[in-house]
Amino acid sequence: LVRKMPGKVTPEVIEELRKIVGDQNILTDKASLSLYSKGAVEWVAAMPDVVVFPENTEQVSKIVRLAYEREIPVIPRGGGSSVTGAVVAIKGGIIIDFRRMNKIIVDIDNGYVIAEPGATILEVNNELKKYGFFFPPDPASERIATVGGALAENSGGMRCAKYGLMKDWVLKLEVVLADGTVTTFGGATYKERAGFNLVGLIIGSEGTLAIITKAWLKIAPIPEATAIIAGFFNDLRSAGKTIFEIRRRGIDPLILEYADKEGIAAANKIKKTSYPEVDGGMVLVGVGGPAKAIDDLAERVVNIMKEFGAYQVYRPKTVAEREEILDIRRIAFTAPGQFYPGFIDMDIVVPLSKIEEALAIVDQVRKKYNVYIAIAGHAGDGNLHPNIGVDPANKDEWERGHKAARELMEAAIKLGGSFTAEHGVGKTREEIFVKQLEERGQLPMLRLMREIKKIFDPKNILNPGKFALEG
Ligand SMILES: Cc1cc2nc3c(=O)[nH]c(=O)nc-3n(C[C@H](O)[C@H](O)[C@H](O)COP(=O)(O)OP(=O)(O)OC[C@H]3O[C@@H](n4cnc5c(N)ncnc54)[C@H](O)[C@@H]3O)c2cc1C
Repeated sequence: LVRKMPGKVTPEVIEELRKIVGDQNILTDKASLSLYSKGAVEWVAAMPDVVVFPENTEQVSKIVRLAYEREIPVIPRGGGSSVTGAVVAIKGGIIIDFRRMNKIIVDIDNGYVIAEPGATILEVNNELKKYGFFFPPDPASERIATVGGALAENSGGMRCAKYGLMKDWVLKLEVVLADGTVTTFGGATYKERAGFNLVGLIIGSEGTLAIITKAWLKIAPIPEATAIIAGFFNDLRSAGKTIFEIRRRGIDPLILEYADKEGIAAANKIKKTSYPEVDGGMVLVGVGGPAKAIDDLAERVVNIMKEFGAYQVYRPKTVAEREEILDIRRIAFTAPGQFYPGFIDMDIVVPLSKIEEALAIVDQVRKKYNVYIAIAGHAGDGNLHPNIGVDPANKDEWERGHKAARELMEAAIKLGGSFTAEHGVGKTREEIFVKQLEERGQLPMLRLMREIKKIFDPKNILNPGKFALEG
């Protein structure tokens, strides 16, 4: 890409934007803009020049056309919960906040829901629940994560063990291209294969190729009955083996999650609970199916846990008990951020047969660098979040934290996995992304990605400076 200085947001541009979205839908004062200077990680920050809140696709198109003419960066923003700096305006420019575009239309007859990008994943599910359906991909951040952000990140969640990622649930997208053109990719039918898979290209592109203004998402019926089983283990080996065997023995779990001792200890402290803080941590399994089969299914899981030496197996019965144990797992993810001023997000994935090994490596790295790591993970997908707590003001701790992070990501690549499973590349993982491509002999992919970027965004205005697209 030709690297030019981006165009300036002049008072005249602000006036134009004001005309497009109206006085009530624009922010230009420093105090408000500073609220948009970060995503969910503290250490990637930059001020945008202006934030706009469009109410419909036509306004988005006009904003983008203006930005295209003036060569000004445009950064689409949902809940701002991404953890890689992906949503930060690192070259300044216009942030489009989609909160006013949050309509949801359920179409049960055709098996989909149409959602605008600013609707949160939780809002989509609250609508669907009224009809006995749900939208399966469930980032733990579902209260803030939006349809647009989750699509752009190709997010996952606990239910991915059974249902897969965002990419597996999208039929059609309405998008605004870099020059302001409005178009759609895909079709609102369960099968469609006319042309290249441009829907697939946009999902996971982190706002760098096009702006999503509407999505047609597949839906699934809520299982008649579900059960949750938590197994606590004395050692990592038994926990790792249990995770592996549950899948291998043909159980098709709704969720297959993990939280380690540190994560459980943190959650106990925060929630004032007393779940066992044992060395092997907790394997959390959810199963679903017809009401009359659910106890048998749960029993099979309990038996596997016992066979592999679970210290304690617990099956919560009430909704409150179930929510509490799910919360323990969720808190294990955020624990480092709650105890330390800085949080290094980790999102490694390894082949299913390597989970046990990966857990052992995290433990070694934790000791080697003497850093606080709590592991939470969608272990059923091979995906672990060994998140690291650091104090950025403590130079030594900060460096040790980043060395530990690097070692964990490299270990995942060596085990045949990746440095990211669902959180993406953004700004913070550009270097390791290129390294992974090198190690896998996939550098042609980077060349093609950069060529594709040029075709979609010839003036490099869509979320520029990320994803290793400016080589
Ligand atoms: C506590 C916590 C828990 C989390 N748990 C999970 C989890 O379980 N699974 C998971 O996958 N992730 C998780 N995440 C990461 C994050 O929440 C997800 O990536 C989420 O889907 C991002 O949604 P968002 O609306 O906040 O996106 P934002 O952060 O606003 O944006 C993310 C990216 O999408 C782009 N974007 C936003 N809207 C659009 C649009 N309309 N068109 C094109 N591009 C757009 C942005 O430019 C940016 O590059 C977690 C984060 C936190 C803080």
